[in-house]
Amino acid sequence: MFDWLKRYRECGNPCNRCAKECMVQAIHPEGHINPNECLNCLHCQVLYQHDQKCPVCIKKLAKRRRFEVQTGLVKPDTKAKAETPVPAK
Ligand code: SF4
Ligand code: SF4
Repeated sequence: MFDWLKRYRECGNPCNRCAKECMVQAIHPEGHINPNECLNCLHCQVLYQHDQKCPVCIKKLAKRRRFEVQTGLVKPDTKAKAETPVPAK
């Protein structure tokens, strides 16, 4: 089966958020998705792009914000503090 569900290198090592939240446990602890178990609900793909839940996205967003502040594209954002990322359960 075509493996089209996206994963990061960090999926499973160290992050296990998607594995914990998959309703049918189709994501193995090391991050691999078993296509035979997956129901294609796409929840893990929502998490894959979630800038408050996925640590990879959180890091990317923080890096981009730092760059924008450093280059003067935006002023330091006080609102960003209010958008505290939700830690994995
Ligand atoms: S939350 Fe992000 S890093 Fe963690 S398992 Fe899901 S896609 Fe991978
Ligand atoms: S698409 Fe849904 S069922 Fe499939 S691995 Fe992702 S969360 Fe699990």
